[in-house]
Amino acid sequence: MSNIKFFEQVNRNFDKAAPYTKHPQGLLEQIKICNSVYHMTFPLKKDDGSIETIHAWRAEHSHHKLPVKGGIRYSPNADEDEVMALAALMTYKCAIVDVPFGGAKGAIKIEKRNYSDSELERLTRRYTYELIKKNFIGPGVDVPAPDYGTGPREMSWIVDTYGAMASAAHELNALACVTGKPITQGGVRGRTEATGRGVYFGICEACNDVEDMRKLGLAPGIAGKTAIVQGLGNVGYYTAKFLQEGGATLVGLIEYEGAIYNPKGLELEKVVQHRKETKSILNLPGATNFPKNSEALELECDILVPAALENQITGENAPRVKARIVAEGANGPLTADANEYLLQKGVLIIPDMYLNAGGVTVSYFEWLKNLSHVRFGRMGKRFEENMNIKMLQAIQDLTGKKFPSNMFTQIAHGADEADLVNSGLEETMISAYNQMNEIRKQHGGKIDLRTAAFISAINKVALSYMELGIFP
Ligand code: NAD
Repeated sequence: MSNIKFFEQVNRNFDKAAPYTKHPQGLLEQIKICNSVYHMTFPLKKDDGSIETIHAWRAEHSHHKLPVKGGIRYSPNADEDEVMALAALMTYKCAIVDVPFGGAKGAIKIEKRNYSDSELERLTRRYTYELIKKNFIGPGVDVPAPDYGTGPREMSWIVDTYGAMASAAHELNALACVTGKPITQGGVRGRTEATGRGVYFGICEACNDVEDMRKLGLAPGIAGKTAIVQGLGNVGYYTAKFLQEGGATLVGLIEYEGAIYNPKGLELEKVVQHRKETKSILNLPGATNFPKNSEALELECDILVPAALENQITGENAPRVKARIVAEGANGPLTADANEYLLQKGVLIIPDMYLNAGGVTVSYFEWLKNLSHVRFGRMGKRFEENMNIKMLQAIQDLTGKKFPSNMFTQIAHGADEADLVNSGLEETMISAYNQMNEIRKQHGGKIDLRTAAFISAINKVALSYMELGIFP
């Protein structure tokens, strides 16, 4: 672990980029600072009748755009510094991918495994109630989402609690108070896998840069590259899945109980099945065990994807990391020291604030869906499909030739919700990569991708402040 606090690490990266912008120092300070933090404590009645005091936070980093947005994590290591750092990353992340939100983050300080489902439900509902009381949640105010340790189930409890409260119950847009909900509760297709899919699109873009790959001594493209993924949760699992489907070889997988490695490749679904049956990824036939999980971060591979938690690669273990590309699936997996060390070594680091922005991008789509009260594709799908069929039939009539039936169906297909969400996500991740890469190239390649991402974010947030003016 680095002894530099997480928020300070984020701010150091900000400070590295700020001199490349032309904004006044006071404005830069305002962008950097965390606008409001709410630290709450409340009692939880445990199933055995005992009472426990729970600590929780919600940090709203920047109100330059509303609502603010960011996940809620359940983690024993959560503290005020961590939520502020993560909220700051959300501000920059939203700016980079042009999602019109400010940044926020929430946390409840618990080891989730130690709580029953009913205890988790009570905790989540009480946390939501505390947020409502202080106006820290609402479709136009602050919209949480899943993060480490939370998922669609917790989001359902949040939306239900929000809707049950007197004033909120009358709010037409109450469903838009949180994203990452199950589809049956106003969620959007593609949200669950969105962050991992976005990570995959980002890695693809990086690997398609012929010049960067040449410098790394790698061939362009994903196919044939070896990858190690840390964390088989939401982000890690889907990243690993899309990497494997895209033709990469998964040589290592790391979880909290240990890691496994096989230079010939691991089959993701077999690993998941094995873990379900034995409660561990260790002892998979054909793979080598690494009971000390952090050791596997140092194994031979082209792409290393830390997708579990922050501070996983530090000044201490960075010199032993062999990957040529480090793709930050998690938020803050590299300490500032590790970042500098790996950059010096010529490693290509794809920064968290860009790379894992797929989650917030699709959360934005979910929020839009909730506000418009209609599923994407519902109005146009059939019309589009009928037009396509008419066109295909006209071609057949004019040429006297028939399309093979699977080709006919494929071309006729009108876009449904999943198609539109995935297309919006792909477009977002590709254009944001190009913006970031363009800034890097404008500086003659002297700056890294993270600095370029910060320059892009600072410029966008600063523009917002300058156009709006300062109240009063
Ligand atoms: P998750 O709870 O679904 O999964 C995290 C996984 O990491 C779990 O399987 C856990 O067992 C594993 N893990 C914990 N400690 C580990 C260790 N030391 N070594 C290896 N594995 C370990 O969480 P998530 O939603 O996938 O979030 C992971 C990271 O991605 C976090 O940094 C989060 O802030 C970030 N993130 C998540 C989203 C999202 O949409 N869920 C979006 C952007 C960023």
